[in-house]
Order: sequence, then C-alpha cells, then structure tokens
Amino acid sequence: MESILFSLAAVVVIIPAIVGLSYFISSIREKEMRAAFFAGVQFLFMLGLVILLFYLEAAGFFKTGFGLAVLILGIILAFGLCVFLTKKIGSNPRALEGTEGLMVGSVQRNDERDIVFARNRTIRPGTKQYQTYYEMRPEYQQFDTARREKGGPLGHPGTIDKPKDRPNVAATMASLSIPLHLSTEEKFNPPAHPEFKGQRVELSPESATSRVKGFVLNVGANLVGITEINPLWIYSNRGEIFHENWEDWGRQIELNHKYAVVFATEMAFELVGTAPQTPTTIASMGNYAKGAFIGTQLAACIANLGYSATANHLRHYDAVLVPLAVDAGLGETGRLGYLMTKDYGSRVRLGAVTTNLPLIPDKPIDIGAEDFCRICKKCANCCPSNSIPLEDQKEVNGTLRWKLNAETCFDYWGKVGTDCNICMRVCPWSHATSLPHKLIRILIVRNRFSRRLFNLMDNIFYGKKPKPKPAPQWARYD
Ligand code: SF4
Ligand code: SF4
Repeated sequence: MESILFSLAAVVVIIPAIVGLSYFISSIREKEMRAAFFAGVQFLFMLGLVILLFYLEAAGFFKTGFGLAVLILGIILAFGLCVFLTKKIGSNPRALEGTEGLMVGSVQRNDERDIVFARNRTIRPGTKQYQTYYEMRPEYQQFDTARREKGGPLGHPGTIDKPKDRPNVAATMASLSIPLHLSTEEKFNPPAHPEFKGQRVELSPESATSRVKGFVLNVGANLVGITEINPLWIYSNRGEIFHENWEDWGRQIELNHKYAVVFATEMAFELVGTAPQTPTTIASMGNYAKGAFIGTQLAACIANLGYSATANHLRHYDAVLVPLAVDAGLGETGRLGYLMTKDYGSRVRLGAVTTNLPLIPDKPIDIGAEDFCRICKKCANCCPSNSIPLEDQKEVNGTLRWKLNAETCFDYWGKVGTDCNICMRVCPWSHATSLPHKLIRILIVRNRFSRRLFNLMDNIFYGKKPKPKPAPQWARYD
C-alpha cells in the first residue's frame, strides 16, 4: 500500500517538474528570458520536491504513521487541485450562439466607405467621391483633413525603425503586392477554367465540405470553418477602390451566396514579437498575401466545380470577416477587437470565400475568451494610443462588444509607420504553440479558475507590459 502511494506521489511531483523544464526550454527558444527565469525557478522547486520525496522514502519516513498521513494528504491536495483546475467550469452559452448571442438591438450593415482605410486611402481631395462622401458624413471631414495634413496613412511619413528599416519595408511591400495582384474581378470572382465551363459537378454537402476544408488546409491555412452567411455582416456599399474602377465606389453590395468558408493563417510568432517594429508588418502582410493566395485558389476551385465563389482578402472585401469567423466556429471576438482562436489567440489573419456551393456549416464555439478578456485587459493597458476599452463590453450597432477605436489606432499606425500589433504581441493567448502553452490553452478553455490563475501567472512570467523581443537575424535592422 505504502509503495503504491509513494509511486502516486512520485508521479504527482515528477509531471510538474517535467512541465516546468519544458516551459524553461521553450521560453529560452522563444527568447522570453523573464519567463525562462520563472520557469527555471519553478522547475528547481519541483526538482527539490522530487529529491525530498525520494530522500524521505529512502529514510523510511513514509513507513511511519505520520509520514503516511503526510503522503496521503499531499496526494489528495494534488488531485484536488488538478480537478479544480481542469474540470469544465464557466461555460458561456452566449458564445455558442456566435454573433447572434451578442445581438442586443437592431444591427445595421456596415458601409465600407466609413472604414478608416476607405476614408483615408481611397478618396482623395478634389474628387467627386470626396465631395459626395463628406456631404454624406460631414462629421468626419475635419478629422480626416487634419490627419491628411499630418502626413497621411500607413507608412507616410517614415517608420519607427528609420533609417535602417529599408529591407523590412521592401519585404512588406513585396507581400502587399500579392493581394493587389489578386484583386481584379477575374481573380477574386473567377470564372471556371475553359475546360469546365458550363459543367456542374454534383457533390453531396458532406463531400463538398470535406473537399473544401481539405483543400484550404492543403494550400496553407491553419484553421478553417464554414458558416451560413448572416447578411448583416455583408458591407452595404463598396468603399475601397484599388484599380481605378471608380464606378464601383458607393455601389450597393448584393451577395447571393449562402455560405462562407472562413480560414485563418498563423502569423509568425518571432515577427509579431517585435511589434511595433517593422518585422511585425512583414508578418501581417505576409499573411494577407497567404489569405489572397488561399482564397483566390479556393474560389477558382469552386468555380471549376460549376458554382459561384468570391474570395475576400485584403484588397477585396464584401463582408466583415471577424463576425463571419465567429459564426464559422473559429473562435470568439476578444477585447482587442480581433478574432481570438483557441490555438493561436489573436495571432492570425483571416480570409474567406463566399459561395453558393452547398456546404455543411460549423457551429460557433466557446473558448472562454469573453471571460478571460474580462479579467485580463493587458492589450488595453499596453495600447500606446488607448484605443482598446478598459471597461466591459457595450452595445455598439446592436451588438455587445469591445469596440476598438479605429481612428486613434490608425493614427498611431501613421505615426510609427507599421501596423503596430502591440496588442497582439502582449496578448497571453498569442504565445507560441509549444507544449506548455498548448496545455495552458486547454486549461483556460475549460476552466474559469485556470483563467484567473494563468492570467496572474502571465503577468508574473511575462510582465504587465511585456517588451518587444529582438527580431530574427534575417529581419534585424541594426
Ligand atoms: S494596433 Fe497598436 S494602436 Fe492599434 S489597438 Fe493595437 S496596440 Fe493599440
Ligand atoms: S490581451 Fe487579454 S484582454 Fe486583450 S485580447 Fe488578449 S486576452 Fe483579451
């Protein structure tokens, strides 16, 4: 009996010691030296317990009545703690309804002309569109004019790393050219290959779903889901123009597609870790390029099957992708306004293809992000432009959400000349995908006590305001 209890106790102390060691090693690999220090302390503490346990066993301590009682108590406490932190507690039924669960009032479709990029990148003073827009929305004119006078949008003037950033800007612009190249009508809304023109392949929804998801993952996505499109997430009017097709500006967007295939690609951890320096923008634009590459291929593949499909990527959006991704079961919306996924946190970029190919939709998921974000607030505390709310969710356009202030965020982008990404870098959910972080994610998805514990530990291991990490050698600018 005593030997069985001793073996159990040995397992109880050896497993956390192994996890601590693995955390220590992965933190060094991730260049998280503060986390490595605390993981090292944790490992040494657990190693001390292992040595003590074996020493006491060799000394015959557990053969005494008192020793046996200590052993049993230790095992009960350890298993109690294990159950306490792993049991599924604190589920959020609202999350399982997707965006519908957050609707508390009447929702109006978004007008793409109102988004900060369309106002500052697309329309130019002296044009018909400029006049039309500010007659329609006079409240933005003074604000946007002042912003233009300050030097305009992203990358102008200068960047945070100037004057040594040139190679990173070169890489960023190279990736950015891909979505632009894939944003002509025949690319985002492709016809069938001439060989297949007029032929429709009859596939069951099960088979079509399996093929579409397999194809998307095969061409480079990390996550994929399908939703029936809620028309509220389709933009009402076109606002972004990239190929001088000005007749499209302001045109009402009518979409007859029933389904959206939404996918996410993981952004490189080591590049996002440098935010807001230029390497992080290499990651953003590289992933937008991947999104265009994946989306246009899927749209072409569906067109070859005889159905209609439209790719949504950085240079052509019919829909707002975060709510579509939530409805497609890819994650929940976080405090920072981005999609939070279980495996990568917010460290992803999204793409989508809308289609009339009959598919089987996925269900929204509850990963505990709403609860975690309510306690965490790290992104809001670290945002240099105070664009992320510290308070609880509020009703915005009929939906309960944390509303990012896109105006002040965009101004900060203009100031540093990158897309910042500090909020993404500091988010506890965006850590690397090493084994210890995977274990922690499993626990915080399941258990609300774990969310509180690991939120606290994140502040200890990484700091309340984590600093940027050095770029990988190839993207250094010093
Ligand atoms: S990208 Fe930067 S400025 Fe914008 S919300 Fe995130 S931290 Fe704030
Ligand atoms: S930093 Fe914290 S509050 Fe912000 S999105 Fe990430 S988990 Fe949520």
